[in-house]
Amino acid sequence: QPQGSKDVDNVTITVVVRCRPMSEDEIREGQTSVVETYPKRGVVCIENPRTEGGKMQFTFDAVYDENAKQEAIYDETCRPVTDSVLCGFNGTIFAYGQTGTGKTYTMEGTRKNYEKRGIIPNTFEHLYNQIARSSNQQYLVSASYIEIYQENIRDLLSSEMKKLTIRETPNGVRVQGMSSFVCKSVAEIDKIYKSGKRNRTTSSTRMNEHSSRSHAIFMITVECSDSCDRIKVGRLNLVDLAGSERQCKAGTSGDRLKEAAKINLSLSALGNVISALSTGKSQHVPYRDSKLTRLLQDSLGGNSITVMVANIGPGSMNHEETLTTLRYANRAK
Ligand code: ADP
Ligand code: MG
Repeated sequence: QPQGSKDVDNVTITVVVRCRPMSEDEIREGQTSVVETYPKRGVVCIENPRTEGGKMQFTFDAVYDENAKQEAIYDETCRPVTDSVLCGFNGTIFAYGQTGTGKTYTMEGTRKNYEKRGIIPNTFEHLYNQIARSSNQQYLVSASYIEIYQENIRDLLSSEMKKLTIRETPNGVRVQGMSSFVCKSVAEIDKIYKSGKRNRTTSSTRMNEHSSRSHAIFMITVECSDSCDRIKVGRLNLVDLAGSERQCKAGTSGDRLKEAAKINLSLSALGNVISALSTGKSQHVPYRDSKLTRLLQDSLGGNSITVMVANIGPGSMNHEETLTTLRYANRAK
């Protein structure tokens, strides 16, 4: 199918905002909160600390405040995505936002504390529970884990973090040579996830901040066959995006500047794609503009569900970045 001619009729995009609590550092620095949330109405307001009365209001599909439970976010916004993947649809869950606003907390959470487990471990559990309950279907679940850094795709499940390339085939977009492991249980998929995570953060050449500058995509493919051997395939992408903060501050030069431009490129390309899909009328969906959007092309268009969790913090010092995040999210809905 030619670029941009995809049927955009059955695309569901849900945009929610989550505001984390004030951090100890922010309190110590004497920052005030510039964010007000009204979860029942799906409204979030942000105040400009420098201009009195300068308040902006946004409405989203849902708004979660600092008291929101991980479980509630999973049940209300993510559970339907997993359920439809089990029925052969594609789904993608993104965590977007400035570094330090809770993207990883939202996606992964605190693994040791059951109540604080994030979307990824909750998905694992829900997925295998549903599979165990079904009687007429057989399921095959496999997982891949990749990272996009400076527009390069790396396989987090291969020992040498192999560089991967995207191929467009008659059956859709494929990542050539990407590792994929069959996972028969929560324990097995969790082990795969952890091994990729280790590769992501501890490779010797990597700086501490690497993870905030790269996109990590955990892909779960679910093949379902019924008693007549009809096969349906659904794919779920769980994406911890690179930090959305502007990188082009004074003193940034050379490689860093190049890196910054590339991070911004894929996040703005993603914004453009989701915005084009959500209006439903757009003739041209610009998937080709970044690796991230090319890679997810099959999952974002067609019959699919997309959830974007925009993470923000309440602190007055981050007012501008927070406003930028709310505007980005507002465009996506
Ligand atoms: P990011 O991945 O966006 O850089 P993190 O998920 O690492 O941000 O969160 C930054 C810090 O804030 C972490 O210490 C995390 O535990 C904490 N945090 C984030 N969101 C919440 C929340 N909703 N409730 C409590 N603590 C949170
Ligand atoms: Mg993170």
